[in-house]
Amino acid sequence: MSHLVHRNLNVDPPIAVFGQGIWLREASGHEVIDGSGGAAVACLGHGNPHVLDAMRAQLEKLTYAHTALFSCESAEKLADKLVGHKPGGLSHAYFVSSGSEGMEAAIKMARQYFVEIGQPQRQHYIARKQSYHGNTLGALSAGGNAMRRKPYAPILSPAFSHVSACYAYRDRADHESDADYVQRLADELEAEFQRLGPQNVIAFCAETVVGATLGCVAALPGYFPAMRAVCDRHGALLILDEVMSGMGRCGTMHSWEQEGIVPDIQVIAKGLGGGYQPIGGILAQEKVIAAIRDGSGGFMHGHTYQAHPMACAAALAVQEVIEKENLLGNVQAMGALLEQRLTERLGNHRHIGDIRGRGLFWAIELVQDRGSKAVFDPKLKMNERVRKEAYARGLGCYPMGGTIDGLQGDHVILAPPYTVTAAEVDMIAERFGDAVEAALA
Ligand code: PMP
Repeated sequence: MSHLVHRNLNVDPPIAVFGQGIWLREASGHEVIDGSGGAAVACLGHGNPHVLDAMRAQLEKLTYAHTALFSCESAEKLADKLVGHKPGGLSHAYFVSSGSEGMEAAIKMARQYFVEIGQPQRQHYIARKQSYHGNTLGALSAGGNAMRRKPYAPILSPAFSHVSACYAYRDRADHESDADYVQRLADELEAEFQRLGPQNVIAFCAETVVGATLGCVAALPGYFPAMRAVCDRHGALLILDEVMSGMGRCGTMHSWEQEGIVPDIQVIAKGLGGGYQPIGGILAQEKVIAAIRDGSGGFMHGHTYQAHPMACAAALAVQEVIEKENLLGNVQAMGALLEQRLTERLGNHRHIGDIRGRGLFWAIELVQDRGSKAVFDPKLKMNERVRKEAYARGLGCYPMGGTIDGLQGDHVILAPPYTVTAAEVDMIAERFGDAVEAALA
């Protein structure tokens, strides 16, 4: 057995030795399409020459400088690229090494903002039940993923409470209109503000499109404006976690662009660096930064590797490729094709409850029965069965859900790179369809 602590301590995973474009090869020689980009990370696929050149160039120039003493060119340029044009008023970037660290930074920055403006009584956050924000303690406290929280429940922060996410497939009542369902969720959030005392709430935290926990679930139209209105009424901030769904994954650079609202603080990672380096971050509104600048003068946070020169150089190159090659257009076009192919192949399958997503972020929900939407017994691990069958057929995909709290079906995520071609989409849908039929025969 391996000396590494793997996710499954009973089975050593295959060793990946080479990646090129959409393909990954393991030591045995078996090749798989990286159909989910890991966990929606590899947005350019593997071995992109422009990114590799930029990383080599950075390696020759500067590998590290501590941010207590210096800034560096790649971090400055990356911030300019992301917020130089102030998208939605977001004017500042802060870079860390992962999505969880980004979430921690967002949580703390929101709290410091209220301390600076003289509202230190604000000590609570409202997040959502079906959500995942990371595995560090603050991010895990924000998350509502029951399975991941369970062993750590006694050491999670009591500063977080949870309301329902917008999950129309299961939670909208029969005969309830979209508008009525959204109003019900807004009322639930309002009631939670009232329970906590509206003047005590720091922020409402949500994934713009729910990733791992529910599987690519976008909110209904009007949901985010309604949530934003509740926050605004009570002077609380809106923190959007776009670690998985942002940076182009859903067809626009930021997922909130499709919702008609802008967050006060946004968390990014995955598609920011495309897996070429570990990098995450937050984007913040000028008002948040100004309060800290005019108050104590600095964000009371920090990590040794924040705004790391190599990580920022890689992320900058990834963003340049996305822009120069107009990859958001390809995400939209290939996303539509992927939806079409999956629907043709599996739309009527008796164990496929829902095929949903945006851009190149798609989930297939597996159910025991389409009509009643009854979930499979989580012990059957149907999503894992699909993953295994797909892997045997040369397709990597990402199994989630089901086992989380039994409130939703298992699902499997497909999230190919933004560079994917029509022929590759066909191959992904074909292999995935074969895998589903084999696993759920
Ligand atoms: N937020 C969301 C929405 C995520 O999907 C993830 C990772 N799956 C995280 C936060 C945590 O990111 P990381 O694993 O890089 O810490």
